[in-house]
Amino acid sequence: MKRRELIKLGAAATAGVAGSQLLTGCDHNPSMKKGMASTGKSAKARVVVVGGGVGGVSTAQAIKKADPNIEVTIIEKNKLYSTCYASNWVLSDIFKMNDITSNYNKMADKYKINMVYDQVVGYDPVKKTVSTAHGKTFAYDRLVVSPGISFRWDTIEGHDESTTHLVPHAYKAGYQTMQLKEQMDDMPADGTMVMVTPPNPFRCPPGPYERASMVAEFLKREKPKAKLIILDAKDKFSKFGLFTGGWKMHYGYESDNSIIDWVSKSNGGTVKAVDPKNMTVTTADGEKIKADVINYIPAQKANNTAAMMGLVNDKGWCPVDQTTFESTMVPGVHVLGDSSVASPMPKSAFSANSQAAVVGKAVAALVNGQEASKDGNFGNQCYSLITTDHGISVAAGYKLKEGKIAKTSGGLFPKQLTKKAFEMEAGSARGWYAGMAGTIFG
Ligand SMILES: Cc1cc2nc3c(=O)[nH]c(=O)nc-3n(C[C@H](O)[C@H](O)[C@H](O)COP(=O)(O)OP(=O)(O)OC[C@H]3O[C@@H](n4cnc5c(N)ncnc54)[C@H](O)[C@@H]3O)c2cc1C
Repeated sequence: MKRRELIKLGAAATAGVAGSQLLTGCDHNPSMKKGMASTGKSAKARVVVVGGGVGGVSTAQAIKKADPNIEVTIIEKNKLYSTCYASNWVLSDIFKMNDITSNYNKMADKYKINMVYDQVVGYDPVKKTVSTAHGKTFAYDRLVVSPGISFRWDTIEGHDESTTHLVPHAYKAGYQTMQLKEQMDDMPADGTMVMVTPPNPFRCPPGPYERASMVAEFLKREKPKAKLIILDAKDKFSKFGLFTGGWKMHYGYESDNSIIDWVSKSNGGTVKAVDPKNMTVTTADGEKIKADVINYIPAQKANNTAAMMGLVNDKGWCPVDQTTFESTMVPGVHVLGDSSVASPMPKSAFSANSQAAVVGKAVAALVNGQEASKDGNFGNQCYSLITTDHGISVAAGYKLKEGKIAKTSGGLFPKQLTKKAFEMEAGSARGWYAGMAGTIFG
């Protein structure tokens, strides 16, 4: 990882709001005259999508597939999107940041979707408009919201957003991923890295444990005397047996020479404070651990944009009618992806993409005055790499039953715990990544 690459990508990624060539609302709305805000009536049905991540882009595409005449505008903060999925692979040098970073140009051209690079900061449910940091207003007939997550800094002492340059979370891919990678590259050969995992629910349940695996692969190769301590506020995690089995095979897990030390909740893994200046982590039991690198992944909630729009419940997430993902708090607004309560589906890119197919069809029907289907099918498969060539996954199928998402099938893979099967699963993980990123960004 070259420092130059880091600076270049970081600058580009943050150029979204500050440097965007912002178009006026009428530039996105052929029925408006130049200079007018896009709040007037339009001949075409208009859908505005807040957030150009997996859920937002996939829904915009699904709406266009259902009815190309609907005018779809995505409002996204940044001009570049780095996929969180596969961002752990950057830590073990399988991918560079460039490999997981795309712009929206090809996708927008292909689907004839209007892209606006700006931040949504205001919302009027009565007038049916959203407004942006650059003072633009966009009218909609239906609104789709997929802004991802925000962090709950109130659950930790000593550390918050202002110190993430010292203690990166790297749980929103981009500059944070590069900072964590740079700190790992710079850590002493016999150093200690501490990772603190979040409490449930959080985006990508296997994500922290795949990250631990990728960190361990990097340490084994580059700094074999270094250690990774995982402090966990839980006693079990997704794909537990497959992860710990893989760690035993590759990283000496539970032996005296283990690269990974996982400290569960019952063994004192809950963390109450992080001191970024002195690089220490203090557990709920009062134990102080000194580290060279700390990766603190905070507790999570629906994105603050959803909260600003009045879409969240008292638990901090967005309840929806699972048939159409229309908010149960604000009519006419559909929330999907990580912000939504789509349980039993996990918060994952695969889930968001699968929900988008249902939401896109429903929104297209509803803006055309038709009824939305009540027969949605959903799926999820979360792949994780334990080494570059050792893959595992958890998969599930879901169906709507009486208006609620119900799990109909599921399992862990591979079924045969052989080297060949793990290699094939790793190949499937890479294939899934290429397919998903290709589908979304064109
Ligand atoms: C380390 C890691 C590994 C992962 N691995 C996998 C995996 O292997 N498989 C898998 O399926 N999932 C994985 N995930 C989860 C996956 O990335 C998320 O579930 C998915 O991105 C959720 O999509 P979303 O649309 O809800 O949010 P996002 O993809 O985060 O998109 C939200 C978008 O909204 C934009 N936004 C937010 N607020 C505003 C605003 N006010 N105005 C304008 N724009 C705004 C943001 O800039 C962002 O682009 C992983 C996640 C992490 C962190």
